[in-house]
Amino acid sequence: MSVFVQKFGGTSVGTTEKIKAVAEKIINFRQQGHEIVAVVSAMSGETNRLIALASEMQGQPEPREMDVLVSTGEQVTIALLCMALREKGYDARSYTGGQVRILTDNAHMKARIQDIDVANMRADLDAGRVVVVAGFQGVDERGNITTLGRGGSDTTGVALAAALDADECQIYTDVDGVYTTDPRVVDGARRLERITFEEMLEMASLGSKVLQIRAVEFAGKYNVPLRVLSAFEDGPGTLITTDEEDDSMEQPVVSGIAFNRDEAKISILGVPDTPGVASKVLAPIGDANVEIDVIVQNISADKTADLTFTVNRTDMQKAKGVLDTVAKELGAREVVADDNIAKISIVGVGMRSHAGVASKMFKTLAAENINIQMITTSEIKISVIIAEKYLELAVRALHSAFELNVEV
Ligand code: ASP
Ligand code: MG
Repeated sequence: MSVFVQKFGGTSVGTTEKIKAVAEKIINFRQQGHEIVAVVSAMSGETNRLIALASEMQGQPEPREMDVLVSTGEQVTIALLCMALREKGYDARSYTGGQVRILTDNAHMKARIQDIDVANMRADLDAGRVVVVAGFQGVDERGNITTLGRGGSDTTGVALAAALDADECQIYTDVDGVYTTDPRVVDGARRLERITFEEMLEMASLGSKVLQIRAVEFAGKYNVPLRVLSAFEDGPGTLITTDEEDDSMEQPVVSGIAFNRDEAKISILGVPDTPGVASKVLAPIGDANVEIDVIVQNISADKTADLTFTVNRTDMQKAKGVLDTVAKELGAREVVADDNIAKISIVGVGMRSHAGVASKMFKTLAAENINIQMITTSEIKISVIIAEKYLELAVRALHSAFELNVEV
């Protein structure tokens, strides 16, 4: 007998029929003797609908009132799911975040969980009940309703699993697992049986939006095995877990390829090559609250330096404006901005123990005549910036070069 926390996202509870199907799924697990805590999101579209209502009322609603409003979506689904379970003869009890007592700080709309009282849930499980908890919400010390940020139900699921010392936190969603890359881009993309927390974080932060990043961090920190699986089809999904010591299974060198088109590139050309210049260029960007990702500096023969870095595409104009001023002060030659770029990363813990991964990546891109504009690496990731128009070609070429395609 195991304890499973099962989280069902908005699309899985989007209609009453779908909520009944979720109840069936839970009942299957109950029949095998497992104890189930279900965490549900609001019905799909509901949170957005509530946010739109708020904007009809006030330009900048109080965050406290926003939380009172948006937390109602999940209150609907917990009650409906319990009714569906009871209709089938299974005892179940619903809890809002406050009723569990998921204690958070008071940062409305982006609250952090501080403590979870498991006593009520534990008593219900012992009494043979299914426990159904509203995702995305908690309560602060003074009893104010708080929410955890968009997509926060994943975090609720993981946090409850950690607090209950559950055997697994299962995230049911509209995809059947984590893939080697986006199947819409590469036909041969394959579902991964397992992936490490570290790899998943790199994949997620690079744009594989299956799971809320915070939830993966939380799961890694508390070592909660996480499984992503389809709410609509049966299947094992993808298990996200720690890096196994067990060498019996050959680790792939590269587990997946992530990519995004979210960034833009900005270069400041011909700055004097003297100490302190990088900081003079980059500090004002930080002061303007613009996050910098990849940075490259090169020195020309004439003793001046070119500095290129990437920022979020939505920040490009702002960053360019700041740099135009900096360029005048430093006597730099020119500032150029380019948003026709894409970032591709190959990710894998196996890279730690294998040489030659980078050169294979670069060779593969060269064979396709794709120019690499910038490179950055970490222990388990190599990222390159290329022209956006070559993105799909590059992903396909790398996917087959690293033998990630479906075995036939
Ligand atoms: N309903 C909330 C949202 O849409 C939380 C969640 O679904 O995870 O952000
Ligand atoms: Mg979600």
